[in-house]
Amino acid sequence: MMFCEKCGSLLVPKKDGKKLNIKCKCGYKPKKKEGLILKEEVKLAKEDEINVIDKKVEVLPKTKEECPKCHNKEAYYWLVQTRASDEAATRFFKCVRCTYTWRSYT
Ligand SMILES: [Zn+2]
Ligand SMILES: [Zn+2]
Repeated sequence: MMFCEKCGSLLVPKKDGKKLNIKCKCGYKPKKKEGLILKEEVKLAKEDEINVIDKKVEVLPKTKEECPKCHNKEAYYWLVQTRASDEAATRFFKCVRCTYTWRSYT
């Protein structure tokens, strides 16, 4: 919360597009406007990150594999090289229905 340095009343930020405008009814404008704009930019960046992760899951190939949890017969799959490079990669599965994730060593 911010208060006017001149008259002491509560300053309520007003949204103006992407910017936050803070102006007191007495006409006083606080100088620390940048801090508030920064906070909103950080929040927006985090939302973008989540969207990217969702897209990555969507583009994973699907395979006919039974989910051990809900017995749905379709799952996303991807390969991960977990141990030495001369060993076979581990197959990971993610259930399309309940999103349960498991791995296959075969
Ligand atoms: Zn004021
Ligand atoms: Zn499932």
